[in-house]
Amino acid sequence: MWRFVSRRVRAASRRSESDGALISSQVSTRLFSARSTTRDYTIVDHKYDAVVVGAGGAGLRAAIGLSEHGFNTACITKLFPTRSHTVAAQGGINAALGNMTEDDWRWHMYDTVKGSDWLGDQDAIQYMCREAPKAVIELENYGLPFSRTEDGKIYQRAFGGQSLDFGKGGQAYRCACAADRTGHALLHTLYGQAMKHNTQFFVEYFALDLIMNSDGICQGVIALNMEDGTLHRFHAGSTILATGGYGRAYFSATSAHTCTGDGNAMVARAGLPLQDLEFVQFHPTGIYGAGCLITEGARGEGGILRNSEGEKFMDRYAPTARDLASRDVVSRSMTMEIREGRGAGPMKDHIYLHLNHLPPDVLKERLPGISETAAIFAGVDVTREPIPVLPTVHYNMGGIPTNYHGEVITVRGDDSDSIVPGLMAAGEAASASVHGANRLGANSLLDIVVFGRACANRVAEIQKPGEKLRPLENDAGEKSIEWLHRLRNSNGSLPTSKIRLNMQRVMQNNAAVFRTQETLEEGNKQSKLMTCWR
Ligand SMILES: Cc1cc2nc3c(=O)[nH]c(=O)nc-3n(C[C@H](O)[C@H](O)[C@H](O)COP(=O)(O)OP(=O)(O)OC[C@H]3O[C@@H](n4cnc5c(N)ncnc54)[C@H](O)[C@@H]3O)c2cc1C
Repeated sequence: MWRFVSRRVRAASRRSESDGALISSQVSTRLFSARSTTRDYTIVDHKYDAVVVGAGGAGLRAAIGLSEHGFNTACITKLFPTRSHTVAAQGGINAALGNMTEDDWRWHMYDTVKGSDWLGDQDAIQYMCREAPKAVIELENYGLPFSRTEDGKIYQRAFGGQSLDFGKGGQAYRCACAADRTGHALLHTLYGQAMKHNTQFFVEYFALDLIMNSDGICQGVIALNMEDGTLHRFHAGSTILATGGYGRAYFSATSAHTCTGDGNAMVARAGLPLQDLEFVQFHPTGIYGAGCLITEGARGEGGILRNSEGEKFMDRYAPTARDLASRDVVSRSMTMEIREGRGAGPMKDHIYLHLNHLPPDVLKERLPGISETAAIFAGVDVTREPIPVLPTVHYNMGGIPTNYHGEVITVRGDDSDSIVPGLMAAGEAASASVHGANRLGANSLLDIVVFGRACANRVAEIQKPGEKLRPLENDAGEKSIEWLHRLRNSNGSLPTSKIRLNMQRVMQNNAAVFRTQETLEEGNKQSKLMTCWR
């Protein structure tokens, strides 16, 4: 369908000379023409040692590491980096620093293995928990403005599922935070560090597909420049996907509207497997109606859930951990209270989170962000009234399967851990799988910095800066352009936005906290009807 026209495009080459971001990559420009139309697509070619897709915490940490190791690195992102969803993280980041009580990374590891419902990868969990104190101190050295104890140490709050002494020593205080805006502080700190190094940012470039050669080696990505519609082939020795989660597969989620699982889809389209996609975490406290998050840190600071009868019902479901039981346990318990008729409000369809018994200065100092969120989105003054809350889609434990170095793995013959050369993944897009079937609060900010860094370190072990790249095959990226062209020119009756909305509603109704054979079968049937996919 495509004719390759090998001639340079003067305008685009000129732009590349004046555009600092493009200069250090080797840029050449070509045209692809569709035989069936008169329309041309401008293709700009770039060459880098490494390309990172995504500029959230995982992508930025990987890019910083790669640049530090001397790799010529491109970071492609559909959003301006500091708008990535990492910015919204509230509660904090876990590490056994031992600033509040004695602590040990092995206790953190025990909690993470248990919290994962015993389905996590224990090698990866050991690596993450052991590296955690180093990772948090590194962030402190980068300049992250952590909250402090009176004697100047990093303040650590209580968080769900965290215990001391292998579950026998009571609640752990392990979650390092910057008030209730930890992700904001972390993302801006990492962006500042990335600026210090020589990472080349391609902002508002939308990655469309992986470029895989016929031997199954990943050679980069093809991306769309959203500003001018040009297409860009990024040819690289290593490609790191850090595209975040797919919370927006659901209608109501705490995640940003941009969390659409693009990297996961790219991997699936390349014929590679994804794992554990059904492991979707519901956060117990999304604001009723709005879905915005009220951090678990609110319960960590002493907040309490009550049903319509005013009962502290978590005492019944989890007598030891109570309101700080792990998120799957609290979400299921809340849903059961509502199902049994003890939900709050006129429709008896939500639960109350009380913070009004906490001293106002604690709310002001430790939870200023959520106090504001509750006022704006629920019209509630947290010093006086409870916040209406409901379990809301929050985190994707599954994703692109990797080993603990961040290398993407696939199944080849008998080898279920066969490495896909040239391809890595980190952050919520990936599944290492440190979270198994359930992520513990404050383990994801940890995951993104630990495995973002691990990817960079692994590239440094297997590749040299400036190493000659294997040439691209002649038709590299052509299929993606064909798809793009078909999608742009399709004339079906349903607009994309409507198809998306339909699918989000099906997921919301049929694949929620409790799922049965019937609800899933019905959802499957409905999604086929609604999307008219053939
Ligand atoms: C409201 C909220 C609060 C949270 N609070 C906490 C907390 O307190 N502690 C904790 O540990 N975890 C928390 N989490 C989870 C944690 O914040 C996320 O899992 C984590 O930040 C994800 O980071 P990431 O780098 O993988 O992805 P993101 O930060 O989502 O970044 C994804 C990046 O990929 C880019 N991208 C995506 N698709 C494309 C594409 N097609 N082309 C180009 N670029 C693309 C985007 O531009 C973006 O830069 C919270 C999550 C939410 C939603």
